Amino acid sequence: MSLYENTLQQFKKAADTMKLSQSMLDRLNSPEKILEVNIDFKKDDGSQMIVKGFRVQHSTVRGPAKGGIRFHPQVDMGEVQALAGWMSIKCAVMDLPLGGGKGGIIVDPHALSETEKERMTRAFARAITPIIGPNKDVPAPDVYTNAQIMDWIADEYGKITGDTSGAVITGKSLGNGGSEGRDTATAQGGVYMFEEFRETAGLEAKNLKVVIQGFGNAGMHKANILHGLGYSIVGLSDSRGAIYNILGFDIESVMAHKLSGKKLSEYSNGDDIQKISNEELLETDCDILVLAALENQITDKNAKNISAPYIIELANGPITPQADEILQRNGKAVFPDILANAGGVTVSCYEWMQNLAKEKWTRSEVQAKLKIQMSTSYNAIKDAAEEFSTDLRTAAYIVAIRRIERAFHS
Ligand code: NAD
Repeated sequence: MSLYENTLQQFKKAADTMKLSQSMLDRLNSPEKILEVNIDFKKDDGSQMIVKGFRVQHSTVRGPAKGGIRFHPQVDMGEVQALAGWMSIKCAVMDLPLGGGKGGIIVDPHALSETEKERMTRAFARAITPIIGPNKDVPAPDVYTNAQIMDWIADEYGKITGDTSGAVITGKSLGNGGSEGRDTATAQGGVYMFEEFRETAGLEAKNLKVVIQGFGNAGMHKANILHGLGYSIVGLSDSRGAIYNILGFDIESVMAHKLSGKKLSEYSNGDDIQKISNEELLETDCDILVLAALENQITDKNAKNISAPYIIELANGPITPQADEILQRNGKAVFPDILANAGGVTVSCYEWMQNLAKEKWTRSEVQAKLKIQMSTSYNAIKDAAEEFSTDLRTAAYIVAIRRIERAFHS
């Protein structure tokens, strides 16, 4: 099941639980604006190439649309629309003054040279400039787009409109108006959220064994931050295998190994490290399972075998709706993606705010704000879960939909 289909099911469950009106349901199912453009640019050999691009603004009732731009051969309009809606929900979960958007170009970026990519990106920026802007729609990176691509869009937009604040787009390089703390924001936000739960639940970090699936940007930073707080990281995986150490890993040493380009399964430092399969890792005995790799990792096939009482979704959609039901029946607490990985979009929002105010916040200022925002959002969702006797995911959707509904009526 795709993230898109998962999202529709989760959304429907929340709408039923909160008895959402048909008119509001219709509004949330209908994006405000869709722009489709044909982008014509020159290849290095002098020939012309035309590719199709999109920008969807799902909702701007709470603020400018916010959401990524992806470059991918399988960009699908239905999926882009659903993901734009998902961004409206995610920004509302975090109470950010932003709505939801998404966009992309149907292209294989690996088949283009850097100069071709730049010409295509700049042509796309010119085509979408009439509908984007600091007060209308603020895009960001997504699949196969990065800080360089965001810098080109900001530059092109500045040339056309004269607005060189950079507030038209986030995820820019640090020297071009990007924010401190964006690199670790997703992992850090998830940690602040869980720390809020842990402290109120009276659990001691040093007694908690953690398994992390995925050791890329999100998973590696998560491991490092939790390790620094005293949690014991006992299991880790990348796409090629998993490792387990009952005594807990020295994360700095594992990071150095991985960043040198080696597989996790080749890691050794003299300790008794077991090599296990990725499937076994998910079912390993631990207290916290962090999913930081891909979607659809816990399904109706393996959900009943998960032993961790706490599961944190750092990836988008790693648990299918069927698996979610099984985990709930088994008393597991799932911290849902729309909250647990929202640190990333929150710091993107901070980048936009800094650009608008012509300010530059330090890493510790960014983190202090993020900590407050994550714990406030977690508590609002926990309260809604109690009010509706439901799980945290459904509660997060309810909190977000209520906030969007309030903005419609104000
Ligand atoms: P990444 O590409 O840097 O890392 C992904 C990691 O998962 C890699 O270590 C890879 O080897 C591993 N992996 C892939 N398949 C695996 C498998 N079958 N079993 C175990 N490990 C596997 O990506 P990332 O930026 O860390 O993002 C991870 C997830 O988090 C994605 O779902 C992404 O959408 C989501 N996310 C990331 C951010 C962010 O700021 N990085 C923000 C929000 C959501």
